Amino acid sequence: MSTTDHKALRTSVLRVPVDPFGQDQIVDIVMKWTDGPHTHVAVGVNAMVCNLAATNDDFHGKVMAADLSYADGQSVVWAARLLGGRVPERVATTDLIDALASISALTGKKLFFYGAKPGVAERAASQLRHVHPDLQVATRDGYVSHDGMPQLIDEINASGAHILFVGLGEPRQQDWVSQYRDRLTVPAILTCGGLFDWVSGDNKRAPAWMIAAGLEWLWRLIIEPRRLASRYLLGNPAFLYRLGKQVVSVRRGSAR
Ligand code: UDP
Repeated sequence: MSTTDHKALRTSVLRVPVDPFGQDQIVDIVMKWTDGPHTHVAVGVNAMVCNLAATNDDFHGKVMAADLSYADGQSVVWAARLLGGRVPERVATTDLIDALASISALTGKKLFFYGAKPGVAERAASQLRHVHPDLQVATRDGYVSHDGMPQLIDEINASGAHILFVGLGEPRQQDWVSQYRDRLTVPAILTCGGLFDWVSGDNKRAPAWMIAAGLEWLWRLIIEPRRLASRYLLGNPAFLYRLGKQVVSVRRGSAR
């Protein structure tokens, strides 16, 4: 299936498209992008992305401009299935990075990590190089000033990176990609939130049983309660409420 054909098979969850792909297919698509001359963008969809898109038209437009939107959150997988969509599995960006790093190391593709506090992206790169010694990764922290942007764009382009990971959190990372994608020569851009904090080991990932039960958000809330309380304690009920409204409207529509 080509990346344009798949758009007909997407499920809209609160206005955000979710593509019907598992991890292996996403890795295939992204690696194909790295062989071509054009820039493509992939977005991981979770409840926060859906909530932002439901309330912010500008953010919604930026998410809609992505070439691939995969289900990064378990709640999005459940929601898409409830709406009749075919989403085979959750593809957490924290798992996707391992698969992409492994193939990139084998095929000589270069990565660029942009985001997180100073030192974090470099520690994330070191962790990956430890597992994949041939992996080529350049890094830059996510606190570059507006005036420093032209130099950052030159640095990313000059690095010859094939896959750029942008980890600035939402909505900042979609704003950044939308503003700079036309100036980048990188063929694949993935927005990745706090990915570098996890890969570096600075944040410890949830136990496997919590991930399997769709409770990774609860783990994150436990380790960063002050920062994430409103995201999850207000965001999760808001997501459920909006989803409920969408399910009722879809069922009413199909009963007509
Ligand atoms: N961040 C950044 N620049 C900024 C603000 C935030 O690089 O100006 C980074 C922050 O250090 C963290 C990430 O963006 O690494 C946001 O992580 P969050 O947990 O909010 O993202 P999520 O994984 O939930 O999407």
